[in-house]
Amino acid sequence: MKAVIISAYTELKDMNKGFKYSIAQVNWWLLKHGDLYREVSNTYNKLCNDCLDWQAKGLPIDCLSKPVYCNKNSDFHSYIKFYDELDKATQLNKLEQQCFNANDEYLLCSKEDLRDWVIKHYDIYEKLGTYFFGYLEFNSKDDKNLHIAEVHDKSFGVDIRAEDFKSSLRFYDVYFDLYDNQKLYPEKIKEWDELFSKIQLPKENYE
Ligand SMILES: [Zn+2]
Repeated sequence: MKAVIISAYTELKDMNKGFKYSIAQVNWWLLKHGDLYREVSNTYNKLCNDCLDWQAKGLPIDCLSKPVYCNKNSDFHSYIKFYDELDKATQLNKLEQQCFNANDEYLLCSKEDLRDWVIKHYDIYEKLGTYFFGYLEFNSKDDKNLHIAEVHDKSFGVDIRAEDFKSSLRFYDVYFDLYDNQKLYPEKIKEWDELFSKIQLPKENYE
């Protein structure tokens, strides 16, 4: 199964020069290797005999030293993670039309309407905000290609070309400015702050 995983990676790697992909190419690859994903996930989730022993003794079941025979293999784990990351990006791409509509509404907003617009479209920002922040984090300012994933050994990564996320990127920029910079929806920010302060670990746990 490891050889099949490597050939799946290679196929994606060789598809393009420069590792910049269209969303259609990513969709195609996900579809083609979906069976492999399910097979790897099933295997990964099944415990090997040593893991079962550990579990019976109430010990952690990650085959502590990660020996090659265990199903909790790090190659399997990386493949699952990589596939999930690509899949997430294709799900976010389905928000393009909603973003397009929201952008249209934005253009018609007067200054007084902006806050209502922000409140109305918070649900879209909640879905894509964190991901877009991460995808764009390492880019230079005018590079809007979305860096969505890297293979475990860092031999290549996957960028999705900006034009496939045109409306989403425009929405993200405008929304980020109104929400994070201009703070037009402070109640929501306060809500999150309160939530985070509740789940924060006691200080001594960081030491
Ligand atoms: Zn094991």
